[in-house]
Amino acid sequence: MGNSFYRDTWAEIDLDAIYSNVKSMKNHIGENTQLIAVVKANAYGHGDAEVAKTALEAGAEMLAVAFLDEAVVLREAGFEVPILVMGASRPADVKIAIDQRIILTAPSLEWLTEAEKNIQKGILSVHLKIDTGMGRLGVRTEDELLQAFKFAEEKPNVKIEGIFTHFATADELDTAYFNKQYDVFAAMAQKAADYDGVMIHCGNSATGLRFPEKLVHAVRLGISMYGLSPSMEIKPELPYELKEAFSLHSRLVHVKKISKGDKVSYGATYTAEKDEWIGTIPIGYADGWVRRLKESEVLIDGERMPIVGRICMDQCMIKLTSFKETGTKVTLIGRQKEECISVDEVAERLETINYEVPCTITLRVPRMFLKNKSIIEVRNSLFCGVKNLTDRP
Ligand SMILES: *Cc1c(COP(=O)(O)O)cnc(C)c1O
Repeated sequence: MGNSFYRDTWAEIDLDAIYSNVKSMKNHIGENTQLIAVVKANAYGHGDAEVAKTALEAGAEMLAVAFLDEAVVLREAGFEVPILVMGASRPADVKIAIDQRIILTAPSLEWLTEAEKNIQKGILSVHLKIDTGMGRLGVRTEDELLQAFKFAEEKPNVKIEGIFTHFATADELDTAYFNKQYDVFAAMAQKAADYDGVMIHCGNSATGLRFPEKLVHAVRLGISMYGLSPSMEIKPELPYELKEAFSLHSRLVHVKKISKGDKVSYGATYTAEKDEWIGTIPIGYADGWVRRLKESEVLIDGERMPIVGRICMDQCMIKLTSFKETGTKVTLIGRQKEECISVDEVAERLETINYEVPCTITLRVPRMFLKNKSIIEVRNSLFCGVKNLTDRP
């Protein structure tokens, strides 16, 4: 059931774009640096299993997510590669991590101590997080770092397999704060290098794109795997072309002519200035097409047309430049002929960053996965667990 849907609103995920973006980063960082594909938050809204599979085919060695639940889902889906949980997990949940061979992040010595108490059997693998200036998770001093390694040395059931940090400003042109964080990390990494086989990593997409020589052992590739620039300010100086993977589409389900003075949608805030063609599409704020996007544009037959009136929970209305048939395709994000509405354009209208846009398109919107321009899979999360609708009483 999960591969069908009965409403004409869907997102398309171009897996060839994902593949190409991973390959490009691989080439850029060289073969001695590993690539960790960051597929947290359902792969930034794109679809975690499908993106993970594609990234691994393109040469990624490892996966990373934010939460243990997300890692468990990937293991369930059959992924055997190392998976790192980058957020904080409950020390009480180490059993699940050990059973599923999932690497957890140790954000402090205190956490490590608590986690160790919960181990019944097996070995807990962790990457120790270092807070070099992000102020989120991690040990902040060399002393705490050394104590953590000493602790792990004394406990046979705890293994620190890696250390990592995260930069707060890697996507900004001004590199002062980045360099400051990097210097703190380099000093800490030096201490950790005394321990054999510790994987050292610090870079997100922005760091990988701009400072590949600073990555040490691996890059944690998130946003740019999806073909998006980590920020607007570094967009003009990207080292290779990024290919946007996400697009969003719907179809006109109702078309009508309204007269001068007629109103559209809640609050009757839109008034037709003359006779106008109005089309309705079945997407609204419950799909993540939020009310702030009123007055934004969509593409029909390669032409931009505005949304008019308030966006409803499940629908919104478009002012058509001329009559269009019911069933005509409407592109909210993506390309039609010569016109393109990019994720960045939508982000700008929302006064937010591109990261937020695909993440915000909810699971009510089915994802279609494309390879070589043809659909290879459809995932409708609403129907997960629904075996056969026709068998119902
Ligand atoms: C999300 C995340 C990343 C990926 O960052 P991008 O900017 O999307 O490449 C890397 N590291 C950590 C710790 C993260 O939380």
